[in-house]
Amino acid sequence: CGIVGYIGSRDAWPVVLNGLKRLEYRGYDSAGIAIINSVGFNVYKKTGKVACLEAHTADKDKSGHIAIGHTRWATHGAPSDANSHPHSSNDNRLHIIHNGIIENYLILKEELLARGHTFKSETDTEILIHLIEEIQNIEQTDLLEAVRLALNTVIGAYAIVILDRENPDRLIAARKGSPLVIGVGKGEYFIASDATPIIEYTKNVVYLKDNEIVLVKPDGLLIKKLDNVVQTPLIQELELKL
Ligand code: GLU
Repeated sequence: CGIVGYIGSRDAWPVVLNGLKRLEYRGYDSAGIAIINSVGFNVYKKTGKVACLEAHTADKDKSGHIAIGHTRWATHGAPSDANSHPHSSNDNRLHIIHNGIIENYLILKEELLARGHTFKSETDTEILIHLIEEIQNIEQTDLLEAVRLALNTVIGAYAIVILDRENPDRLIAARKGSPLVIGVGKGEYFIASDATPIIEYTKNVVYLKDNEIVLVKPDGLLIKKLDNVVQTPLIQELELKL
């Protein structure tokens, strides 16, 4: 339902948490954030309001400069802590947040179960991150290419953001049928399902288009179509008033 991501030199937690609050008007049943710091990563998720997640994490380690957060409107799997996003790969290296529906998730789940994957939720979303992990292992590609190949086998609508524990200097995002906006700051980027979490930080945005996938690093954006053709990012100025 709601997506917020941040990479840069600020503390990522308040940026993402406050961003999720700005998206609360959309309605949701649970919230979660994954964050990486120099010693490791933390994933916190909770049913209920963003304030419940805040209370749940009051005394927890929330340090880090890269994070992804989600408010969920359940479509596949009841509202529960386990079904809340982010969802993680089998080896806990990759973490995903997702708006939308992966329609062919059941057949993909059968194949992944046969290949030894275990699932912690009933969501369609968790299948997607395991599929990306499996493709990366089989094809020995970088993550961007694995995400591209995975999205070419998926049927459905999505806006996704992926965090890689082993590469704390990048986020990967993609969309088809669900909006995604990238806020471009000075050496920092904000990703969100609409501009409301971004406007207080920057007016410069790139609206990701359908079938585009983007590699976001502090030094720049690389956008590709799902067919692998590189696109030039078009930076536009937001006209929203604060
Ligand atoms: N289909 C996903 C789920 O049920 C995402 C729902 C959403 O857009 O929040 O977890």
